[in-house]
Amino acid sequence: MATIIDGKQIAQQIRDGLKTEVARLQKERKITPGLAAVLVGENPASKVYVNMKAKACDETGIYSQKIPLPADTPQKKLIELVHGLNQDQKIHGILIQLPLPDHLDQHAVLQEVSPHKDVDGFHPMNLGKLLSAKFWDELPAFVPCTPAGCIQLIESTGIEIEGKNAVVVGRSVIVGKPVAMLLLAKQATVTIAHSRTKNLKEICRQADILVVAAGRPKLVTADMIKPGAVVIDVGVNRVGEKQLVGDVDFEAAKEVAGFITPVPGGVGPMTIAMLLRNTVESAQCSVS
Ligand code: NDP
Repeated sequence: MATIIDGKQIAQQIRDGLKTEVARLQKERKITPGLAAVLVGENPASKVYVNMKAKACDETGIYSQKIPLPADTPQKKLIELVHGLNQDQKIHGILIQLPLPDHLDQHAVLQEVSPHKDVDGFHPMNLGKLLSAKFWDELPAFVPCTPAGCIQLIESTGIEIEGKNAVVVGRSVIVGKPVAMLLLAKQATVTIAHSRTKNLKEICRQADILVVAAGRPKLVTADMIKPGAVVIDVGVNRVGEKQLVGDVDFEAAKEVAGFITPVPGGVGPMTIAMLLRNTVESAQCSVS
């Protein structure tokens, strides 16, 4: 029976530490870390995420600014807004909630965010640095939040990542690829699987560390898991009216895995904690 990795509790510990650091920054340097969250359109899930992030900022003492924009906002206007935030002394982190409406070029918008305020780690410069880093200490200041959270959850088990076989299911720029790069920087041997991968079951069964970010409920079943493996389930899938499930068949998988994250309560809270951490670190580095 696997040990359940309590992402909620680990994230809370991180947030408690950040709260202390924010108070120190305010007292000693008169700096209040600030995060701007830009939401274009009415995507209900995106609204929930932005509200959760703003609430988490409030609880940590971080100043937050929610900027809702209509769904038909022209790209030029969005980019002008981003340029304004780049210059805004109160703002140390800029978050563009994804996905953007179809008429907007996500890549073009993200590259207008100052790399020094890119707390989501999606600017091409920060992604490029992530790709260039051979070792952990060569990583950019900002790495994407969900992948960073996955690494913290793996490390919370006490299992050494170096030399392990790690399999990442999913190759998105937001989760799959950066998590694979982070595992590589931690000296794991990494395989990335995706929708065209043959023999997914055999590949997953090789994994000492299995990170699943496919957005497919119950894609990973118990027979795909190596006994004792660390299983990190990034997936968030809505089933029926209210239920949220991951990409792993949790009930069966926990009988085989050594450690496993639940959904909800695993990766999700860590994503927010990493965003807060990046914002506080950005404020620490600011000159004002
Ligand atoms: P994407 O849809 O961008 O990427 C999904 C990836 O999974 C793709 O690379 C796709 O392959 C692969 N995939 C899909 N089906 C299969 C399959 N049957 N077998 C193997 N691989 C498959 O999703 P994201 O990376 O953005 O998100 C993944 C999941 O994580 C979602 O459920 C999302 O909601 C969740 N998420 C959770 C977060 C959190 O904080 N907890 C944060 C971000 C995401 P291909 O490239 O070939 O299409």
